Amino acid sequence: MTTETDPTQKIAWLPEFIYAGNRCQSNRALVCDAAGAIVRIVEPSELNDEKRINLPRRALLPGMVNAHSHAFQRVLRGRTEYRGSGQRDSFWTWRDKMYAAATQLSPEDIYDASCMTFLEMALTGITAVGEFHYLHHAPDGSAYEDPNLLAREVIRAAGDIGLRIALLRVAYARSGFQRPANPSQARFIEADADVYLKNVEELNQSVRSASVRKGLANQRSARTRDPYGPAATAWAGVAPHSVRAVPLNFLKQVIDYAKELDLKIHMHVAEQPAEVSACVEEYGRTPVALLQTEGLLSERFTAVHAIHVTPKGIASFAQTGAAVCACPTTERNLGDGVVPADEYLKHGVTLSLGTDSHAQIDLLEDARELEYHLRLQRLERAVLDDQSQDTSLNSQRLAARLFECATVNGARSIGAPTGALEADTPADFFTVDLDDPSIAGGSPGDLLASIVFASSRSAVREVVVGGKPIVSEGRHLNQEEIVARFNTLQKKLWG
Ligand SMILES: [Zn+2]
Repeated sequence: MTTETDPTQKIAWLPEFIYAGNRCQSNRALVCDAAGAIVRIVEPSELNDEKRINLPRRALLPGMVNAHSHAFQRVLRGRTEYRGSGQRDSFWTWRDKMYAAATQLSPEDIYDASCMTFLEMALTGITAVGEFHYLHHAPDGSAYEDPNLLAREVIRAAGDIGLRIALLRVAYARSGFQRPANPSQARFIEADADVYLKNVEELNQSVRSASVRKGLANQRSARTRDPYGPAATAWAGVAPHSVRAVPLNFLKQVIDYAKELDLKIHMHVAEQPAEVSACVEEYGRTPVALLQTEGLLSERFTAVHAIHVTPKGIASFAQTGAAVCACPTTERNLGDGVVPADEYLKHGVTLSLGTDSHAQIDLLEDARELEYHLRLQRLERAVLDDQSQDTSLNSQRLAARLFECATVNGARSIGAPTGALEADTPADFFTVDLDDPSIAGGSPGDLLASIVFASSRSAVREVVVGGKPIVSEGRHLNQEEIVARFNTLQKKLWG
């Protein structure tokens, strides 16, 4: 499938259904300009001389946004699913195994692992990712000549696969409160806030100027959630790792800087009870209380996980406009606990989704798990359905809400110019095969719920970013090469 011949030619995509405005609509065409932006959604009879791409037996949906990823952790898949001898396996024992892998990767290995991860994301309908990136140094802790070398390898991988990326550069100052330095963390540590901020500044400037070189800065969007214009493909944000790894003064400096430069802030918050108790010991406050009382929460802040929180903590997210990113497939894998999504939504807190450790990559599985974990806990069904909301959606309302977490809310969290199929936003979308056995028999009235609750990844057929196809007929153009390189890497790492 090619879409480029005439640089001014508009393209009309004609699937059987388009999911736009919270509804599956039939008899619609998605029209994009040659720069890859959506122009309008119209009836096919209103088309003029657009080049038509027919997509029979397909539903077309906005590309999903994966708001929390550590791309290199894909190398661990299948390698940690056992109990260490005589010990209780937990997040902390998993972390030791993850560190062992993290210390072995060369810059090229990080590129190859990231390519594999982003390829898998693309194949599942993800078109943008928030990469929470904390590998900065050589394995012995010495700085590379370019302190952003590894960040750039990850950005390069996203660009080669075709995904948009928010590189959320991690601040990691210490092992923990009154804890000795851990040599396994040598690749992450920037103990001095000034050094960290200088490196972020340099990364931010260079991704901005890359956008300018591509002529993207002239296409500024009126949408406030878009930091660089509708065609931005890579941008920077800040990510203080956690209250455990970043002491309060350092944290304040990072957050002040982000405010000044209007950057997104992501932070692991209350993933594990031990993190909460260590914070209480150090500051006499829980992590959320610390962030709230120090005035560090805001609309640009996303708390990743936010599982072990109090009702007061949930209210403080609501009061400040801070958002939460849940990662249910990882949280269940690591035994972290259950995100109280019902309480967050009741308070109006925005929830996005991430695949985090990449135990598996399927953002729709994360969307359905957000609900399913609560069903098991509360012994109820349809826990997150809110009957006070849009009554016209009825049976699709819960699915629409979960899909919003996987799209619009993720885009807002990482600052992507996407999330919904609307004019003047990038044409980032994916299609599903209506005859895939997992969703066959769907009609506009139940299709979204079938997709959200039951579709298998094989249903995803086309993935388009900025009007450009990156996956066609369920395959990425460079799939064989990327998988082959990753197989070689895994052999090198694990034998
Ligand atoms: Zn994480």
